[in-house]
Amino acid sequence: MDFFELSCLLVITACVFYLFYRKKGERKISDFVSKFPADKIKNKPTEQVHYDVAICGAGPAGSTCAYYLAKLGWKCLILEKKKFPRDKYCGDAVCKTAIEILMDMGVYDQLIRENKAHVADSGGLVSPGGLSYIGRSKEVLGEIPAAIACKRIHLDEAIAKAAQRMGADLREEWAVNEAKFDNSAGLWTLYREGATDTFKARVLVCADGAPSRLGTQLGLITRPPDSTCSRAYVEGGTHKFKADGVVFYNKEMLPGYSALFRHPNDELNYCVYIIPGNPKVTPDDLKYWHEYLQTNDLNISRALGGEAKIERMNAASLRLGGEQVSYGHHVLIVGDAAGMIDPLTGEGIHHAMEGGKLAALFLDEAIKQGNYDEGLMKIYHQRWMNKFGFDFKWSMIFCQMMYRYPILLDASAAALKRKGDKFLAKWADIMTGRVPKIYMLKPEFSLTLGYELLRLLIARFNGQKKNENKSL
Ligand SMILES: Cc1cc2nc3c(=O)[nH]c(=O)nc-3n(C[C@H](O)[C@H](O)[C@H](O)COP(=O)(O)OP(=O)(O)OC[C@H]3O[C@@H](n4cnc5c(N)ncnc54)[C@H](O)[C@@H]3O)c2cc1C
Repeated sequence: MDFFELSCLLVITACVFYLFYRKKGERKISDFVSKFPADKIKNKPTEQVHYDVAICGAGPAGSTCAYYLAKLGWKCLILEKKKFPRDKYCGDAVCKTAIEILMDMGVYDQLIRENKAHVADSGGLVSPGGLSYIGRSKEVLGEIPAAIACKRIHLDEAIAKAAQRMGADLREEWAVNEAKFDNSAGLWTLYREGATDTFKARVLVCADGAPSRLGTQLGLITRPPDSTCSRAYVEGGTHKFKADGVVFYNKEMLPGYSALFRHPNDELNYCVYIIPGNPKVTPDDLKYWHEYLQTNDLNISRALGGEAKIERMNAASLRLGGEQVSYGHHVLIVGDAAGMIDPLTGEGIHHAMEGGKLAALFLDEAIKQGNYDEGLMKIYHQRWMNKFGFDFKWSMIFCQMMYRYPILLDASAAALKRKGDKFLAKWADIMTGRVPKIYMLKPEFSLTLGYELLRLLIARFNGQKKNENKSL
């Protein structure tokens, strides 16, 4: 057993212990004394001079949080620095957990009706060794698809406007420049540059994306984002891609990967995710990999074809794996700002929305209790960590395993090929965090992958023998 394998074993043991014992010591909201009773103001928002909650950033995290807070009857403000419709560099893959929330908001039907989202049916992966499986999901999954492709210029506006319709006060072109807390009044005051208007709120939610300028300014976020990802749209009718969504694993850049995803009107999204873990591939190399893969990875270049009209590369940062702290006195952090991006996939829309909803439900209880002390706000952090955040540790272990043993991905593609679409649907649930990554250790997966791994190793060994015999 080498050092890496020993470390993996120790980390796995530590994680199992942690999973068993983490819930101990979690306090209840009702344990805290009420300092700012809210009973009288609920459902009478206009009588209040301050907001219950002010949210900085109207991305999927902030707007989802605002939607549910407004639905619960609280006076909620969302401040967004840009004006909708506004773009956000993204792979545009919106997976099942986010789709369920969009359906609950009534936004999903609207996007489909307006031809702003494409339901992904055929999809799969190409492994580092060139094995591939492209399956179909509609028949297996029925009503709720595995994923849709929706440009963020449409998605983010639709969610923000749904929150506004629900009663949240949305202010566009309002960039929060500073937030000051008055301890005696228990209120935040929010400022913007070059203007004198301000807003007051009991709780502040930072949903300002991966760089989280505000979270950093408040001293809650203490490190820069971990990585970066590219995006380029490919004009419809100019490429040769037949599927709806395919993930391409290139051996040289593991555990990172690239993906092609089909939008309505045959347009594609081509993006490259740099995932930390490979010392030879750093975020600074993104441009190189973005260009290298589209011409030198045979599977990608074939899918694009020689005539593809590809837009210039755009890029944005990724904050992966969950922050240590996503709360403070009268303040919560949600979405990318809190690092709610899965390190295995670089995807975070679903966690941003799940986190936003979870924050709203938590704040509903906190406002009723009338207490926003740090100790109480910590319960929010424990809740999202329990729901999906602890799983990020497993994602990091899986990333290392993929990087060190790319054959595991070949075995996965072979297993998908043999087991078909139902297995692909379960695989997708693991990859998108709907079920814990540890499910990969269930016999259904581990035995199937183990079998394929053995077959590949034997085939490789026989191939090597043949070559040796030839050269003799
Ligand atoms: C290139 C790329 C590809 C990706 N592909 C996928 C994918 O295919 N699927 C997936 O699930 N995830 C993907 N992700 C991750 C996904 O984009 C994020 O997880 C998601 O956007 C998180 O939403 P959010 O609301 O937390 O942050 P954001 O979407 O970044 O929203 C933050 C909002 O805050 C606003 N804001 C910032 N500062 C201020 C301020 N001071 N005052 C007021 N407003 C402010 C911003 O304008 C923005 O509207 C990708 C990321 C990148 C970079």
